[in-house]
Amino acid sequence: MLLPEILKSKISEILTFQFKRKVRIFSVQSVAGGDINSAIKIASSVGNFFVKWNDGKKFPAMFYKEFLGLKLLDKSQSIKIPKVVCEAKAGSYEFLVLEFIDEAKADSKFWYKFGESLARLHKNTAKNFGLDHDNYIGSLIQSNQKHSDWISFFIEERIQPQLKLAFDAQFTDRTILSAFKRLFTKLNEVIPKEPPALLHGDLWSGNFMITSQGDPCLIDPAVYYGHREVDISMTKLFGGFSLEFYEAYNATFPLDKGWKERLDIYNLYPLLVHVNLFGGAYVSQVFSILRRF
Ligand code: ADP
Repeated sequence: MLLPEILKSKISEILTFQFKRKVRIFSVQSVAGGDINSAIKIASSVGNFFVKWNDGKKFPAMFYKEFLGLKLLDKSQSIKIPKVVCEAKAGSYEFLVLEFIDEAKADSKFWYKFGESLARLHKNTAKNFGLDHDNYIGSLIQSNQKHSDWISFFIEERIQPQLKLAFDAQFTDRTILSAFKRLFTKLNEVIPKEPPALLHGDLWSGNFMITSQGDPCLIDPAVYYGHREVDISMTKLFGGFSLEFYEAYNATFPLDKGWKERLDIYNLYPLLVHVNLFGGAYVSQVFSILRRF
């Protein structure tokens, strides 16, 4: 992956300003990443940085939202978050420059530390569910309009917008709408009341790293205040989290009885997002969950 010249000179300029001395970029190296953005590691005279960029016309303010999310998570001082060097524009590009995390392998304490840190993060609360701004989930807009009640937030800000997108794009038919309607009537009985918790919001195994000190580090968030079981459910959607993670989480901030049975309900949201991003193949997974509730 080549770093466009316009980005290279803008990044050098910003680093020069921040470090108060002339900064030179020595090399760039591509980083395997997501589907939407380009990502590289740059080596410079003031150290290594992680840079990702995209076309600002396609995904306006995506990195600004990511910057806000990373800042909010970092402010909680619960878990390592890469420091944001800058978020800016150059030509039609928008880009984000972060502290480069040198990745290590999990040691014997890693999963325990991760479970504890996520529980600490979730102890950060707010008056309402939602956030003071919308952000992105993948490349789709995530609406964070505030609600005092979790169930109405989950239905109106999470499920319904994705369901509408899927239906309008003809990924699915009307039967899904009635199946969801039936589920909505049951949510109050099934989901325990909890205060809003600060969430990563997209916590699958591709969205954390292991630092060279062996600490968990969260990346690429879709932050909001929500029901904390949402983050737990995402860890189970594609797997990859060790049992010790859940033990440590529960030892630090116990989940309500029956949490395992509820996780699939929350995963209807990322599954619908997958339907909208990658197509109808995920619809059958949505239906198989709906049939169980
Ligand atoms: P995208 O928004 O395109 O999905 P990510 O933020 O998930 O991009 O980053 C893509 C990959 O780049 C990650 O899976 C991770 O391996 C690596 N990465 C992300 N942030 C950093 C960082 N701060 N330092 C080093 N590598 C990183």
